[in-house]
Amino acid sequence: MADSDIYMQAHDAADANGLVSLPDSENQVKILLTTLPARDNAPTTGLDLDTDDYTECLFLDDAIRDKIVKTPNFPQSVPHVIEKLFRIGSSPGKGLGMFATQDIEMGDFIHAARPLIIVPVKFVKEWHIFQEKLLFLCIKRLSLEGQVAFMNLTHSHIPMNGCDRNHQIKAIISTNGFGMNIFYEPESDSCTYSAVYKDISRINHSCSPNVQIIFDVPSFSCQLRAVRPIKKDTEFTIQYTDIFQSYEERKKALVPYQIECTCMSCSNPKESNQFREELRQAVDVKALRGSWLADTSLPGDLIVEHCSGWIRKLDQWGLQSLERYRYYLWYAYTAAVALGDAELAHKFGTNFARRLLVDLPQDQGVDTIKIYSDRDKCRKEPGWRIRGERTV
Ligand SMILES: [Zn+2]
Repeated sequence: MADSDIYMQAHDAADANGLVSLPDSENQVKILLTTLPARDNAPTTGLDLDTDDYTECLFLDDAIRDKIVKTPNFPQSVPHVIEKLFRIGSSPGKGLGMFATQDIEMGDFIHAARPLIIVPVKFVKEWHIFQEKLLFLCIKRLSLEGQVAFMNLTHSHIPMNGCDRNHQIKAIISTNGFGMNIFYEPESDSCTYSAVYKDISRINHSCSPNVQIIFDVPSFSCQLRAVRPIKKDTEFTIQYTDIFQSYEERKKALVPYQIECTCMSCSNPKESNQFREELRQAVDVKALRGSWLADTSLPGDLIVEHCSGWIRKLDQWGLQSLERYRYYLWYAYTAAVALGDAELAHKFGTNFARRLLVDLPQDQGVDTIKIYSDRDKCRKEPGWRIRGERTV
């Protein structure tokens, strides 16, 4: 336990932290305010000096902190991008946004940063009435720069009357927090903790997002990559809701953010709903590939054509962030290998590798492109030419 950690129990929180006493003094629920990585053992991160290197965390259970610090290789440095690839600028009708400062390729690593804060999405009932005060205590632990960065974030949930500081903090978190994949709970299909970032929280929503984030525990950083080629000065976008849902479901999910999305899918609800339904009903490509390998009377191009068709449609709708996109690239690659078509395998293989990078922490992805850019890689695959030579 670091010196700066604060444990609070409901019955003593009032005195120590200026909180109102709980009626039930027997309550033993503990809340932990802690810094990760601990300030005394954090490595140099190589980040810009104006970026907070530490995250202030509010955990409802100290087992969460223990699990994080016991993660192999924790804490590692935050991956460094040599040249800054983004700027924060004005986005018409959306306040501020994050923009590309140069052309970017699919899979390119854009930015990594530690959160300013990590806080529970919901508080257990004993703490619910104190949540705004607890959040305030968490923010107060940030450096002055961190506090300013946090308070400058946009918020869309401010109460019209009695707009006090504590309500404002909750509003900023609701508007800018990203659910953390490491705290995802399948039973409720939701994340139990949310993270707020100085710059990443500026990224606006689209149902055709062009970047993805993943949270990497060893470096305790959120990492941002492009899911498709992005032109200089284009705004980066991410999904705030499940983009596989229908227009109506997405519209409802975006209400709390006060967003009326005008992306291609939301502007064409009928067609985009229909496309999503087709995608949902699509033939399982793995099973199709099995039949194709077993039955040589099926057309040689069957799998490549099937996958190429879906890749084209996903490109048209800007849905490269769906895992499906990566699968289609992978099965097109393996089909080209089975046909012994080295050129085609190289094309799909390199695109597959670029898309795969999006789903990997930065340190695991470094060799991926190198492996697939080897033109002879496909010839060494066990499935090379198992479907005979391509004769088209
Ligand atoms: Zn949309």
